[in-house]
Amino acid sequence: MQNLSTSENRPESRLAAGMPMGGIAPAGDRKSFKGEIPRLVKVKIISDPRGNLGVVESGAESPFNFQRFYFLTDLSSGASRGGHGHKRLRQCFVCLRGSVTIDLESQGRTWGFKLDAYNQALLVPAGFWRELSGFSEDALVGVLASEVYEEADYIRDISAFRKWERERAAAATVPYLDLARYNDSIGLEVERAVRSVIASGAYIGGPVVEQFESAFARYCDVQCAIGMGNGLQAIELALKAKGIGPGSEVIVPAHTFVATALAVTSVGATPVLVDVEPDTGLLDVKRLRDAITDRTRAIVPVHLYGNPVDMDPLMDIARAHDLFVLEDAAQAHGATYHNRKCGSLGDAAAFSFYPTKNLGALGDAGGLTCADPNFADRVRRLANYGSTKKYHHEELGTNSRLDPIQAAVLLVKLRHLDAWNARRQEYASFYLDALSDIEEMQLPAYRTANKPVWHVFAVRVPGLRDELQRALSGAGIGTNVHYPVSVARQKCYAGFGFQAERFPVAESFAREVLSLPLDPMHTMQELEQVVREVRAFFDARARDRRVGVSGLLAQ
Ligand SMILES: *Cc1c(COP(=O)(O)O)cnc(C)c1O
Repeated sequence: MQNLSTSENRPESRLAAGMPMGGIAPAGDRKSFKGEIPRLVKVKIISDPRGNLGVVESGAESPFNFQRFYFLTDLSSGASRGGHGHKRLRQCFVCLRGSVTIDLESQGRTWGFKLDAYNQALLVPAGFWRELSGFSEDALVGVLASEVYEEADYIRDISAFRKWERERAAAATVPYLDLARYNDSIGLEVERAVRSVIASGAYIGGPVVEQFESAFARYCDVQCAIGMGNGLQAIELALKAKGIGPGSEVIVPAHTFVATALAVTSVGATPVLVDVEPDTGLLDVKRLRDAITDRTRAIVPVHLYGNPVDMDPLMDIARAHDLFVLEDAAQAHGATYHNRKCGSLGDAAAFSFYPTKNLGALGDAGGLTCADPNFADRVRRLANYGSTKKYHHEELGTNSRLDPIQAAVLLVKLRHLDAWNARRQEYASFYLDALSDIEEMQLPAYRTANKPVWHVFAVRVPGLRDELQRALSGAGIGTNVHYPVSVARQKCYAGFGFQAERFPVAESFAREVLSLPLDPMHTMQELEQVVREVRAFFDARARDRRVGVSGLLAQ
């Protein structure tokens, strides 16, 4: 046990001196420990002649909300308490009077703390076994807990606790994406923001929505941003606001999420597919001219995987033919094209804030950005029952508004977006470097004048995609395919006469792409594990081939 107290009972000096806190395991063990470790934090003490006021507040020092307070007092001397583990509950212990020893165990490591002053608190993360002993006779120990009482969260037997830990470790995988991890990082901020909307009593529109709209417009370097219900409706209503409907043709890439085409068909216009670039999978601007007819009204370039489309030549063609350009920026929050933000490159841009997107809400949400306030007003009206004045409906609109609760979440997350995107870029560079020598695999390409935000890291593995995906899955690594069925081959478009064979590049993407885990909440260790498993797959194949050749020679 590491005794952190001193006989003079002056914890300030100990904390200020930066004594190592916690951890008696051999050096090097720390590396294998996953997650938060227990730690002492300072309790704010406000002193004046009347006495001391101590404050423990959830915030940066204790990054969770307290749901319950309890305390231990009148302890018989020599008593011990605790002797249980918590799977999810986090705790903050403060010894208000006297002293107590708290022993912790997690992942085979142990920690010992002696609390004997009220100006320090011990934060115990989730997943720890705890035992309290050595109470002084006058001990008074306060405990702040992150959850209300729930028996299912307790493990009351040490061997059961260790078994639970073993099972959890054995199931340790690299998830393709685990959105719950964001809670550990920003949960408290998000809860606070949501609570303030709940307390406000305003649940449609209002100041939080306006605040997000102006913050997001600023972020995208555009004049206007409109919060909407989802990304699909953002595309749809932008087309509608432009008067695009039956009889109009709209150019969309043949390789995209179906929403891009679906928005076109749902306004009654005709999607015209254009094949994509073989290296990036993005709308091939060189093929645009051949697709333009006298019915063409708009182009919807998709910054797929967070990688910007080559917009300058696209805009030149669009201007020459008087076409409306609507960026589908649903995967490209923060990406830049020649130092200009996606969302500011066309006439308007549709965003999705679906939870998995780089900027994601806690449910459905979307938005539109544009430079023209008149156009913004028209979209806003369409999204609000075709009405600007309550109960007066000027046109046939629909209901597609951004909820203030989602706006509050998005405002919090927008503050972190650049840091998250930077982490994605760092991880993408790591993959690009670590996987560059695998000949059977084609890594994602981008134009160096641009900064993609790596919504998806999609490699291409001709002929081996499904096999690699199965192997990775067997090794506990989650992957995804974006997207296995091209727009032209979707059943919903069976009657539309798209001929999939006319878009061979898009078809090859559908057959060959595999998305590797890449999210700011992944750890570098997890990415290294992905690289190891990918390499192991190709190494094993190379070995099999060598064995096959020598087998032949031996005949
Ligand atoms: C997610 C997405 C959409 C649709 O957004 P929703 O909010 O899910 O309606 C549209 N286009 C692309 C490229 C997307 O990735």
